[in-house]
Amino acid sequence: MKKNKVISVNGLTKMFGDFTAVNQISFEVEQGEIFGFLGANGAGKTTAMKMLIGISTPSSGQAEVAGFDVFTQAEDIKKNIGYMSQKFALYDDLTVKENITFFGGIYGLSRKQIKTKTTTLTEELGLSEVANQLVGSLPLGWKQKLAFSATMLHNPKIVFLDEPTGGVDPITRRQFWEMIYKAAHNGTTIFVTTHYMDEAEYCDRVSIMVNGKIEALDTPKKLKQQFETDTMNDVFLKLARG
Ligand code: ATP
Repeated sequence: MKKNKVISVNGLTKMFGDFTAVNQISFEVEQGEIFGFLGANGAGKTTAMKMLIGISTPSSGQAEVAGFDVFTQAEDIKKNIGYMSQKFALYDDLTVKENITFFGGIYGLSRKQIKTKTTTLTEELGLSEVANQLVGSLPLGWKQKLAFSATMLHNPKIVFLDEPTGGVDPITRRQFWEMIYKAAHNGTTIFVTTHYMDEAEYCDRVSIMVNGKIEALDTPKKLKQQFETDTMNDVFLKLARG
């Protein structure tokens, strides 16, 4: 069965003055796919992602996200996606419950929906006992899981995660990836940037950006074959570091 394309990008480019931060990138992502978006610091990942989530207008090229055009339908894109930035947005001085209520409100959920979501989410995340504690007092890994759930509150078609696991230990990262798998299994498309090469192995397909261009794009298995190595780490080093 042919799957839906939920992201289509063609020749997408972003210039800052004379500097080309994203240089004619093209790719497609299917529904339910976990798409890894890799590149060294400054390669252009965040800039590309900002165009895809409708907060930065491209200089040229084309892109459709969730069926909407990045140039003319950015507001529709925002309603249909979730986004978790590197400095994920939870309020440290609100409790777990209050954060869920706040983000539920932003995403347009009714009071009843928010109440139900608060119960199911805190139970699923194992946070029921700390539901009334300030988020600032929780370990980083718990915060990240809560932040991911907050970006999923409105059941978005696509979730964009910009280095979601930066700074957490391998066990917590693994748990985070279990949440990603579950969301993808339920049909949500995951677009994720990471600097952890073990995480690149968990993706269905991986693109590697070098100086604004996509230099490789395939499944981790095929990339390893193509670059004649056993690990994504080596693929990355061969490409991103020349
Ligand atoms: P990291 O892994 O460090 O987050 P990245 O791949 O996300 O890196 P970007 O943040 O997209 O990289 O930056 C790509 C390039 O564009 C960098 O050289 C950066 O300095 C430049 N850049 C990003 N935003 C702007 C801006 N608003 N004005 C000028 N240059 C910018």
